[in-house]
Amino acid sequence: MPAAVPDYEPDSIAASAFRRFRRRALWLLPLGLGLVFMAVVGLWAASNEAHERQALVQRLKADASSVQAQLEARLDVERARLRDAALRLSGIDDPAAVDLYSLPEVIAGFDRLWNRLVWLDADLRVLARAERAVKPGAMLALDGLRIRSRGQAGHLEQPVPAASGGREGQLLARYELTDLLGTTDLAWLAGRYEVTFVSELGEVIATSGRAGLQPQGAAVEQPLPAFRDTVLRLAPYDAPRAWYRSPGTQAMLAGLLALGVAASLLLRREVRQVQQAEAASRTEAAWRRSMEDSALVGLRARDTEGRILYVNRTLCEMVGYGAEELVGLKPPLPFWPPEAVDALMARNLNTLAGAAPAAGYETRWRHRDGQIVDVVIYESRLVDSEGRHIGWMGSIVDIGERKRLEDLERRHTEALAQHARLNDLGLIASELAHELNQPLAAIAGYSAGLKASLQPGAAADAEALRAVEALQRNARKAGDIVNWIRRRGARAGPAPVPCDLNALVDEVLNARQRPMQRLQVAVRLGLAAGLPPVSADRIGIEQVLTNLLRNAAEAMAGCPGTALVEVRTRQLPSIGVAPAAVEVTVCDSGPGLHGRSLDELCAAFHTTKRDGMGLGLGICRAIVEQHGGSLWATDRAEGGACFGFSLPVHAPVPVTENS
Ligand code: ADP
Repeated sequence: MPAAVPDYEPDSIAASAFRRFRRRALWLLPLGLGLVFMAVVGLWAASNEAHERQALVQRLKADASSVQAQLEARLDVERARLRDAALRLSGIDDPAAVDLYSLPEVIAGFDRLWNRLVWLDADLRVLARAERAVKPGAMLALDGLRIRSRGQAGHLEQPVPAASGGREGQLLARYELTDLLGTTDLAWLAGRYEVTFVSELGEVIATSGRAGLQPQGAAVEQPLPAFRDTVLRLAPYDAPRAWYRSPGTQAMLAGLLALGVAASLLLRREVRQVQQAEAASRTEAAWRRSMEDSALVGLRARDTEGRILYVNRTLCEMVGYGAEELVGLKPPLPFWPPEAVDALMARNLNTLAGAAPAAGYETRWRHRDGQIVDVVIYESRLVDSEGRHIGWMGSIVDIGERKRLEDLERRHTEALAQHARLNDLGLIASELAHELNQPLAAIAGYSAGLKASLQPGAAADAEALRAVEALQRNARKAGDIVNWIRRRGARAGPAPVPCDLNALVDEVLNARQRPMQRLQVAVRLGLAAGLPPVSADRIGIEQVLTNLLRNAAEAMAGCPGTALVEVRTRQLPSIGVAPAAVEVTVCDSGPGLHGRSLDELCAAFHTTKRDGMGLGLGICRAIVEQHGGSLWATDRAEGGACFGFSLPVHAPVPVTENS
């Protein structure tokens, strides 16, 4: 037969594999959590930093726009001043006579910014010009702005209208970019940024760069159209730094990582210890279980109310119930014999009250198959890990075998004693037989002589002749019995011969006719026809049958109703090693045996009769067993007792040539 393939659930395999993996990888959890935390912190810091950078760029742009607006405003002021000068010049009809240096607007313009002023007519011919005499450097107070390149200049143009005879033309005011920067307030800017003005050709015009201070991060460039396509570049000194560059953050992350690693290592050690402890506990549990199961002693744990908490395999085998059927049950238990439930309940209460004898107590349980199990139970207190009394632990020893051996020994001892008594009896009988044999032989001899002397007599002597014949027959019979007793006394075995048991039953009933009639006992016969002969010592078997009939008749004496003895014979087939046999049964309608076993009935000197010896049945059983047969006794269902014996069918010894 092919081996059964275990039906594994794929889900359960996957689930148990996952559980194993989880147990193995559990120690990595703190490290993993630490790394996840670091990643989250990093993401948060990176996003923060991006926001800050964005805000910085916005601020830079705003600041650059503000500088541009400031410069524009400054130039607007200059344009207005130039317009004032143009208005003054518009009324002058002879430009050659004009001294520009004397005009207050021009002087003020040179003081502020201009470094040259040219008056052109409509045909762009120079009508007059003036130059600033002041050294340009002296004007500069640039709040840390260092000039790198001079010469970058711008021009302001203003038309000169022709008024009251004046000429139409235009005024051109030249100024240097660096001068314009010098008159602009940039101090607030230079503190935060490296401010650089770069010409359209890429030449640095002025810068606020300070030694030892490096700008951070990306610079923002803002074109300044009002400033001759110059570009303003602002590079912040204080840009947000990449989050991972911060030493504090690095220290924090390193610390966190170290903590995660340390926690993981600690957890791994703990998990290993727990796993080792679990494995040790599983091994111990398996050992304990196999020890409990292989023990010859049954074990049973109960709570304080008697509910079964645990049973081992031995106990289950003792009573024939499975552990799953017994655990959880409360008394009365299914293996208690029904007739003893009350007594066992009382005993159980006694035990639960703590009064069970320390030396154990004997009791009887009933196996599921009905067999009685004799056990001794030793009860001890069951305590939990804190020493609290939580129930009772019972150790149960099956003493059935011990009892059987004790019983055997007792019966053996009794049999020896009975044998000894029978031996004594045999000796007495042998003595008696020896003493009785002589006179009985004499009776037989005399009666034979008397018979012979009466033989030729008249018919009137017929009565005397019958009496003498009966005398002779009985004397011979007595002689036979005496001889048989003698043979037994001399330990001679039975002398079996082929014997028809039906004929033997007839013969014994005939002989016992008188006493049966006296006791008013009716006899019913049920003899099977065609019985095979049995091997029997006739005298011995006659004694057995006689004894059974007498006992039956005596038992029914005084009983109400008809005293009826039924005698039956039948053939028993050969079963196994038991040979075929013929059985004789003697049943009566007497009081019955009251449950007494054959052993009790056959016990020597066991009698319920006033004048009984209590030896008859014991001798009967010995005779039957000597023949290889067996004697039995039982109560009848309808009242009365039945005794019976069986004898093996006679097996003729094969005749050989030498025999
Ligand atoms: P005895 O006849 O001397 O008492 P037995 O050995 O023949 O000795 O019988 C032993 C006992 O068995 C009797 O005393 C009687 O109590 C019981 N007994 C034997 N035969 C019967 C029977 N047919 N019915 C009831 N009891 C019987």
